[in-house]
Amino acid sequence: MAKYCTNCGKELQDGADICLNCGKIVDKTESNNTNTGPKDPNAKSKVAAGILGIFLGCLGVHNFYLGYTGKAVGQLLITLLSCGLLSPISAIWGLVEGILILCGNIDKDASGKKLVD
Ligand SMILES: [Zn+2]
Repeated sequence: MAKYCTNCGKELQDGADICLNCGKIVDKTESNNTNTGPKDPNAKSKVAAGILGIFLGCLGVHNFYLGYTGKAVGQLLITLLSCGLLSPISAIWGLVEGILILCGNIDKDASGKKLVD
């Protein structure tokens, strides 16, 4: 795929980042902006995470979803190891986190990506 200098119109060499004819620095962002859209396709949904926390918080599902695996395993183990006796503790924990997620107090997943609405 040939590219042309935006300044003088001369064809550029493959991979060149400067025009050999006029010396203009070639702007590579134009041909290579596949991941600069406003929405990240990998971004997690705030609503989904919040609802998971509210309904399945005792199993840590919302934390698994967001990648907070350590917290998620903790919530899951509290419920499983107590044979459900302590599940209200992790359920309330998950419920609170679900609400915090929906209110925007928790707005990032474990990798630091913003949650989308
Ligand atoms: Zn040029």
